[in-house]
Amino acid sequence: MRYKTIVKNKKEQSIIAKTRIELLYALALDSLRKKDIVLARNSIKNMIKISRKNKISLKDYNWFFCKKCFEPYGVDTIDISTNKHTKTLDVLCKNCGYVRRKPLQKNINS
Ligand SMILES: [Zn+2]
Repeated sequence: MRYKTIVKNKKEQSIIAKTRIELLYALALDSLRKKDIVLARNSIKNMIKISRKNKISLKDYNWFFCKKCFEPYGVDTIDISTNKHTKTLDVLCKNCGYVRRKPLQKNINS
């Protein structure tokens, strides 16, 4: 059985999706504090699902979790180093070993 969509307005739908993402982010933070990593990971997966369905970018939460294993970054699970050759910031996820690179900005002060 298919449920009929109550919300017809696209703007309204995106606002609802955004608030849902914010709520899930708060839930993930809360579960991290309680050291419930499974719940945090599941809420992050839901965040990604909602963002893809409603075409909302997760720019604000981009560096909150690992993109491969969806594990939220913490003190124990992250290793940051700079790479002189590629001029990037290397972020290593200790859980799965996935390295993300971010280009270093030339003007840090600006
Ligand atoms: Zn990972």
